[in-house]
Amino acid sequence: MSANAAAAPSGQPGLHHVTAIAGSARRNLDFYARILGLRLVKKTVNFDDPGTYHLYYGDEAGRPGTILTFFPWANMAPGRLGVGETQETSFRVPEGAIGYWSHRLIEQGVAHDAAEQRFGETVLPFQDPDGLRLALVAVPGGERAPGFASDEVPAEHAIRGCHGISLLLAETAATGAILTDVLGFSAAGSEGSVTRYRAGDTAPGGIVDLRAAGGFMRGSMGAGSVHHVAFRAQDDAAQATMVAQLARQHGIRTTQQMDRNYFRSVYFREPGGVLFEIATDPPGFAIDEPLASLGHALKLPDFLEASRAEIEAVLPDLT
Ligand code: ZN
Repeated sequence: MSANAAAAPSGQPGLHHVTAIAGSARRNLDFYARILGLRLVKKTVNFDDPGTYHLYYGDEAGRPGTILTFFPWANMAPGRLGVGETQETSFRVPEGAIGYWSHRLIEQGVAHDAAEQRFGETVLPFQDPDGLRLALVAVPGGERAPGFASDEVPAEHAIRGCHGISLLLAETAATGAILTDVLGFSAAGSEGSVTRYRAGDTAPGGIVDLRAAGGFMRGSMGAGSVHHVAFRAQDDAAQATMVAQLARQHGIRTTQQMDRNYFRSVYFREPGGVLFEIATDPPGFAIDEPLASLGHALKLPDFLEASRAEIEAVLPDLT
């Protein structure tokens, strides 16, 4: 335990969001909003590449820990999973909903693997149309979290945000130290080559599994790859504390803070090679449109508003 553990963030720690790369934007929207029943909580563009959408899915309000986002690049080649990458992103569902989902995925033409037990939980692994590895995890008491009722998925079976991620790493100790020293996680046991880290007990996005893969080959990023994973900071001050801890205890420098409109972010490459982000909980997705109509209109940051016509002309039609 480090000398600075007392300075750990006082807010709820855990994942803030996971961002992945997709091919077709339309196919991505159909899969996550219609088949999986997530809410499209923001339709905007990649601020660093405004000819590309940035689609945010989440629970009804897009609370931290429920958010999965995509950069859809239509002609992106498929990625190949390797060490230094996120292996799987999992969602929480109520314990009684696994049967519903097994049936729904088959009915929608989405192959899934057989349900398996991991760390005492029932897990249903499957992939999105670009090959992104996903899983549904039955969480005891999951039904007590609010479920978003979409057109096709009733609230009782709805996904309750992210469960966690697993990272495929050559070796895991240095990454684990950052999770525990800086990001508010605690070691929570191991199974085979996987060590589990947990942030709190009840909030979504509380699990990070580190899989030690030794000399497994490096991958290549592409469609179906996770681009980065973001962890929560309750505010700017908590984020600044985490940035200082990274520098002091781990010799890691982050980027400067970037304003992502819905949160403020710093980025760094963790020792295992995965791109990590620390994102503030505020201000959230209702800052530029009402909660009731989240995701309906194309939202642009102020610095891109002047180019709206050109941007809309190059974005693919989502309807
Ligand atoms: Zn991000």
